[in-house]
Amino acid sequence: MSYRLLHTTSPFVIKTRFRFRLVGWLVKNPAFIRVWCCKNCYRTAARIEMAKADSLVILDKDSLEKKKTAICNTGSKKLQVIADFDATLTRYWINGQRGQTSHGLLQQENPEYDDKRQKLYEYYHPLEICPTISIEEKTKLMEEWWEKSHALLIEGGLTYSAIKMSVSNALIAFREGVVELFEYLEERDVPVLIFSAGLADIIEEVLKQKLHRSFKNVKIISNRMTFDTDGRLVSFKGKTIHVLNKNEHALDMAAPIHDQSGVSNGLTDDNASVKTRTNVILLGDHIGDLGMSDGLKYENRIAVGFLNDNIDKSLASYQKAFDVVYLNDAPMWGVLDLVSDLCSSRGD
Ligand SMILES: [Mg+2]
Repeated sequence: MSYRLLHTTSPFVIKTRFRFRLVGWLVKNPAFIRVWCCKNCYRTAARIEMAKADSLVILDKDSLEKKKTAICNTGSKKLQVIADFDATLTRYWINGQRGQTSHGLLQQENPEYDDKRQKLYEYYHPLEICPTISIEEKTKLMEEWWEKSHALLIEGGLTYSAIKMSVSNALIAFREGVVELFEYLEERDVPVLIFSAGLADIIEEVLKQKLHRSFKNVKIISNRMTFDTDGRLVSFKGKTIHVLNKNEHALDMAAPIHDQSGVSNGLTDDNASVKTRTNVILLGDHIGDLGMSDGLKYENRIAVGFLNDNIDKSLASYQKAFDVVYLNDAPMWGVLDLVSDLCSSRGD
């Protein structure tokens, strides 16, 4: 038996002998293992860099560098980040399906009211995107749409438990790197203002359920609801924030920020001091999101656009409008790199 094992030429025995010899050789030559590991790490890092480069477009690198230098010179004390929520902080695609938006995910316990809100969408959305309607007329139409929708939510008896259930059933997820970006900015006391024409209570619930934590520097500027003791929606606080006025003017219009227990979210800066932060990183997925910085007399603004779909048709206009454009539902790592460059400066 042992003779047959030693002298057989079966492929199994040949492979086994080769593996033993290889292991023996590697033990005697550890330098080879080090070189092999370094090469592979390098290749992985290079692949990540190539993937980043594939999804990144910068039209005017000189202008971007000038803005970065100007922001670096004053440091994080003058910096604020303003971000759109849907398809900017959240992913556009999730497992091959279109991710839901914060307002699209809401299911009332009374489905008749979901249908009524859908009918409003079908009537007003074409008017929202119609290029021939003047901005003044469109603003009136948007106010009308939002007020009717809010009235339906009250009339249909929306409850906070329906919001929790809707978020838990929703297909919605944050881009990779959003948590790390918020953490990095929180450590440096840089405020993040999330502007949304949707509902603050839903966005807060999405943050709670999908990130399982809160950030003291993150403030949501959106429409905020009031619930009665049974958890039923009774009214909206502050003025209506819609697609055409979600900007820094809305800071004064929006209701004060409180969580469900009625306690302030602990943001260290008040609205006035946010406005003294005159260097801005703006994150958006629509060209209209650039309007979020209206109402702020900023000195330097770096606009980062996420172009998630229709890249061939929209790239030319996006790269003119935004300083940096990320394609194909890219993660947030590039923005984290940018922000860390800006915060590692003489001003800090
Ligand atoms: Mg959006």
